[in-house]
Amino acid sequence: MRDMATALAQALNCLSPVDQGDTRDSCGSCAACSRITRGVHPDVVAVVPDDKGRVNVEQIRDVIDRVGFRPFEGRRRAVIIDEADTMLAPAQSALLKVLEEPPPSSVFILVTARPDMLLPTVHSRCPRLRFEAAGNVTADAEVRDVACGVLMQVSATDDPGRRIEAARDLLPTRPGTGRVEREHVASHLRAMASLLRDVEILSTRANAAALANVEIRPVLDRLAKSFGGDRGIRAFGAVDRALEALDRNAGVKIVADWLVLQL
Ligand SMILES: [Zn+2]
Repeated sequence: MRDMATALAQALNCLSPVDQGDTRDSCGSCAACSRITRGVHPDVVAVVPDDKGRVNVEQIRDVIDRVGFRPFEGRRRAVIIDEADTMLAPAQSALLKVLEEPPPSSVFILVTARPDMLLPTVHSRCPRLRFEAAGNVTADAEVRDVACGVLMQVSATDDPGRRIEAARDLLPTRPGTGRVEREHVASHLRAMASLLRDVEILSTRANAAALANVEIRPVLDRLAKSFGGDRGIRAFGAVDRALEALDRNAGVKIVADWLVLQL
């Protein structure tokens, strides 16, 4: 995802953008693009977690001071905050102030695999760009374990009651806002989609180098016994529809219950 943030910074500052019909993409080779790739463009500021693994409040204050000035040479200054979910509340609150009144010509890009860890106020200030292509992203391990467990339980029973019981594992353990709850379920469904994609790769004997979850290969082999072939393809389609339903703000329990009955 960090790569996508870099690409976005390039799109904002490229000196010779490439026209692609209704969108424009950066060229990747002009002076601005190559300086961004090398991490030396003066108007692209990347903030990464400190040695304690957190983006801290001093770093955020420092970046806010820097965006007070006009961009040095680019059209837009891009501030990339990597692993934004590592910010504790004080850092997020400091950031919120600048997100509420963004300085002209600056764009903040928060990179995170766990948007549900951001304060709702920060979350709501940021239009969301989703970069996950199912199958290419290794999901958060804990989330993936849960997704895997649900697939295993569902494969072991046709009983609707027991399947719906398994669906509970996909739901948040404590109540949150609708958005937070939907993101919780969606993250599990994306992990599930990634697993099913891998199962499909295994059952078609396609190139195993394409596996997204290669480090749990034995688990994938077990899943492939139940979800190989047509069932896996149908299941993948059902997960996709469930994610769409969440995007349309469907209730999390209804979506989870519906899904486990389709798998
Ligand atoms: Zn360029």
